[in-house]
Amino acid sequence: MTERIKYSIVVPLYNEEEVVLESYKRLKAVMDSLSEPYELIFVNDGSRDRTAFIVKEICSRDKNVKLINFARNFGHQIAITAGMDYASGEAIVVIDGDLQDPPEVIPKMIEKWREGYDVVYGKRAERKGETFFKKFTAKMFYRFLRRMTDVDIPLDTGDFRLIDRKVCDALKLVNERNRFVRGLISWLGFRQTGVEFVREKRFAGVTKYPLKKMLKLAFDGIASFSYKPLKLSSYTGVALSGLSFIYLLVVVVERIFFKESTQPGWASIIAVNLFFNGIILLMLGIIGEYIGRIYDEAKGRPLYIINDTENFDDDDKLGRYPTRSR
Ligand code: UDP
Ligand code: MG
Repeated sequence: MTERIKYSIVVPLYNEEEVVLESYKRLKAVMDSLSEPYELIFVNDGSRDRTAFIVKEICSRDKNVKLINFARNFGHQIAITAGMDYASGEAIVVIDGDLQDPPEVIPKMIEKWREGYDVVYGKRAERKGETFFKKFTAKMFYRFLRRMTDVDIPLDTGDFRLIDRKVCDALKLVNERNRFVRGLISWLGFRQTGVEFVREKRFAGVTKYPLKKMLKLAFDGIASFSYKPLKLSSYTGVALSGLSFIYLLVVVVERIFFKESTQPGWASIIAVNLFFNGIILLMLGIIGEYIGRIYDEAKGRPLYIINDTENFDDDDKLGRYPTRSR
């Protein structure tokens, strides 16, 4: 591995050709001002545009910049995991590539780290340039997640954070596939604190988190830290079976003692049927979500596949053993 350097900055990129150069410049300005050794690790998450090309170009001029180039799009959470796997700094910062997380907050995080905190997360005091829908659903989600789990996951924080080397090493022991990294970091424990910041507007381009990916991330967060949806299925099942049994008695008694009252009933049969079928399918779906995740774990595939890397000491080796660094 490379000699120990002070800071690693991990930046995931997916189709960010319009942003990456500006992002590099802003990060470089901030990191240079600290006059301590650092590395910028750009993880190209299977972009279909010129992102990789631009980063390679930067790498050839600036040896502090490194590239991990995935073989395809593995998703944001996997991209930041790979960046952390290959980071060699004493403190590692994960930051979005679209400049929504301002690089200028990094020195504040470092200050907290020097005070002895092992995890310094960015807390979004305000979110600019995002739709009402996104802000609202995000707010609801963070509060819902907190109710669902015993893990102390801070509200309104994304993956923008600084972690100490020991947290990074501990995270390497967690091999989950459908990852919710910010939750995993909370799960690890360690001394944590937050710094508030204003989440800026995206510098250019559009979000790479369409609703589908957002929903997937949200359910990964819930499923990997809570059994409550499963409990909900069983509680609902128990409650409905109880009610059904009572109604069954009613029907039988009516049939035996008050025969005439059982004549009509098509509407109620259909209603009860639809209701129960709906509930059953919903509960099956919840169980299915968990089973799918179990299946992913059982297959035990590597978390990501690397196509090539730039500016790591062992570039060739990384390309040839393209999985986690352990
Ligand atoms: N990203 C990624 N892989 C993906 C989707 C997104 O690496 O499959 C990166 C993206 O390039 C950006 C960061 O993750 O640097 C956050 O994504 P985005 O800004 O699109 O999400 P939003 O801020 O809208 O939630
Ligand atoms: Mg963004």
